[in-house]
Amino acid sequence: MTVSQERGARAGSLAKAKRIVIKIGSSLLVDSNKNEINHSWLLALIEDVVALRAKGQDILIVSSGSVALGRRMLKIQNGELKLSERQAAAACGQVRLMQAYQQILTWHNTGAAQVLLTLADTENRQSYLNVRATLRSLLELGTVPVINENDTVATPTRRYGDNDRLAARVATMIDADCLILLSDIDGLYTADPSIDPTAQFISEVTSLTSEILAMGGESRSGFGRGGMRTKMEAARIALGSGCAMVIAQGKGLHPLRSILEGKRCSWFLPNCSPSAARKVWISGSLDPRGTLMIDDGASKALLAGRSLLSVGVKKVNGTFARGDLVSIQTHDATEVARGLVAYSSDESLKIMGKHSDQFEILLGYNGQKEIIHRDDLVLTGDAQ
Ligand code: GLU
Repeated sequence: MTVSQERGARAGSLAKAKRIVIKIGSSLLVDSNKNEINHSWLLALIEDVVALRAKGQDILIVSSGSVALGRRMLKIQNGELKLSERQAAAACGQVRLMQAYQQILTWHNTGAAQVLLTLADTENRQSYLNVRATLRSLLELGTVPVINENDTVATPTRRYGDNDRLAARVATMIDADCLILLSDIDGLYTADPSIDPTAQFISEVTSLTSEILAMGGESRSGFGRGGMRTKMEAARIALGSGCAMVIAQGKGLHPLRSILEGKRCSWFLPNCSPSAARKVWISGSLDPRGTLMIDDGASKALLAGRSLLSVGVKKVNGTFARGDLVSIQTHDATEVARGLVAYSSDESLKIMGKHSDQFEILLGYNGQKEIIHRDDLVLTGDAQ
């Protein structure tokens, strides 16, 4: 295979991806001369996003830039910021950032949704489940979530600090199959190419060896906080969940189209898909905390790849919390599947055998309509 055929083959991973997270660094989005949004660049990027969405691909954006933009608005441009100044800058800049995304996406008849996350939101079980459900809804409702760290409230010891790892966490949370880190460098090198002329470009990584991980250097950009080191950590998170990752040069218009056209970039390829990684995780190590007995109709639905609805649940055994692993069994106690349940055992008892349009009355709130979403289900019986 020629080099360009190889690049074309890897670009196919992006063309085939169902759900893509795109991380945009501050140095791309913010024009360093004016400290204002690089409007023509963002316009072209959103055209690429809209083209991918038109092919049925789900897109989530993790965008930096709030601090860089806020500094200008607050006229605190020079030097290192104190923590409180950085948080103030983020609060002001985030508004400007979202304005730009919303305006351009609206021109394409697409809704923009702001999601601000802290480290705790992605580590705490309840918050994690809430964020995941919200992101899924936003995608189902046809919006483009634009995510950033909630820098205004993040504490120095409990924060991501860089959006590379945040983007990887978001990707694994919503089972994305491709994470694109748009950067001011075109990929991974054996050494920093700006100081070492013998540095070799690495176009494909299939295993994160200690040698590869050691290639992470520090950021050279004047704005962003991520460097190659945080990108390697992002790769570890993404690949562990079956999500491919790309580090690509973002400078220049239409960076996503360029990747599809086979422009040089570094691909990190997992050895399994997100659903396979999840399947191993769900069916493997965890002990089910309870059992849901289901009827024949629900069994057929599960075997056909659908979600489990409360109407098909006949009996609930055990004590479990929202997000726990449960075993799904037929009336004769044969396990057909395992899954992460969206309701606690108390709530499941209230909604079993009932339609989701009664949830509000039965539970006091209108939760998700699936008692176990198909993304959280693994068939374990003979018929799988
Ligand atoms: N959350 C920061 C911002 O919006 C950026 C972090 C990073 O550069 O990765 O400015």
